Amino acid sequence: MRPLEAHINLANLRHNFQYLKSKHGNKTLAVIKANAYGHGSVQCAHALADLADGFAVACIEEALTLREAGVTLPIVLLEGVFENDEYALIEQHDLWPVVQNEAQLQGLLACNIQKPLTVWLKMDSGMHRAGFFPQDYADAFHRLQAAPQVAKIVKMTHFARADEPSVGMTEMQIAAFDAGCEGCEGEASMSNSAGILDFPAAHRDWGRAGLALYGLSPMPEADANLKPVMTFKTKVFGVRELAAGEVIGYGSIFKTEKPTRIGLIAVGYADGYPRLASNDSPVSIDGKPSRIIGRVSMDMTMVELNDAAQGIGSDVELWGENVSANAVAAVAGTISYEILCNVKRARFVYQD
Ligand SMILES: *Cc1c(COP(=O)(O)O)cnc(C)c1O
Repeated sequence: MRPLEAHINLANLRHNFQYLKSKHGNKTLAVIKANAYGHGSVQCAHALADLADGFAVACIEEALTLREAGVTLPIVLLEGVFENDEYALIEQHDLWPVVQNEAQLQGLLACNIQKPLTVWLKMDSGMHRAGFFPQDYADAFHRLQAAPQVAKIVKMTHFARADEPSVGMTEMQIAAFDAGCEGCEGEASMSNSAGILDFPAAHRDWGRAGLALYGLSPMPEADANLKPVMTFKTKVFGVRELAAGEVIGYGSIFKTEKPTRIGLIAVGYADGYPRLASNDSPVSIDGKPSRIIGRVSMDMTMVELNDAAQGIGSDVELWGENVSANAVAAVAGTISYEILCNVKRARFVYQD
């Protein structure tokens, strides 16, 4: 059996949720869109069922997967509705759609449902991706408030740069949100992980914790209170010894400077390990730091074995307890969000 495994530590997930909820105060959604950032949405939802105040996913398909698995807490659909025939299922399964533009608002006002819904009305407070402009927000709010299809409105917005605390953008977005909400009574939600961790002024009725829930800080510096949930690991299944001056792998991008023992490991970009994290990316071999050498290929990759005790069967952690997914993402020129979501073809092992 190929030894590539993603170990998912559900106790760490629960710990991180409790930490984030205590930081934010009030209610907190666990954001488990994109299969819980690659961790398994059903398993994560069950592990958080007695702690979370609700869940957030991207779309109705993700929500129905959770409902079919017996998840009963509220579920927010962060992208809202794509086709108006989704409202029947939204009503049946008590889902909470975001309404982020005029087309979605009109679809809701035209839909035929018996039980009024909770909707999350999104404001574009500066990110300019989705949401009503601040000057149009109160009008949208009052139209929804008057609609028979609507029971409750939660006001929301999303931050563009809360992971860059010194740039001033988040303060600007908070001010724009508060100004645009004037005259609109009710609960509000602003903070993603970075807002929860770094912007107390953005703590409102509902936090929305994503990345940090999985133990990774979105901020430039790590947060010692967060514990990694996924450990992505494999084993050495081949060893060769090369003299100085030999090249290895596709493109010969690595050349040995000294006699070198090389371990072949079972992971590649087809598993979601980023190809751009080739030469020099950090790994941990039997608990000791080492690195990838040569180019990551589709199914296999090479590592440097620094220790005579390391060989076939040695454990190689790609990220997790010893190697931060943020460090791997940095070498690959991306963010840990992306590399976590990309994990595939591995065996998932859930631990309490
Ligand atoms: C994904 C998402 C979140 C979670 O963001 P993190 O940075 O992962 O905490 C929160 N709110 C919305 C609207 C999102 O799309």
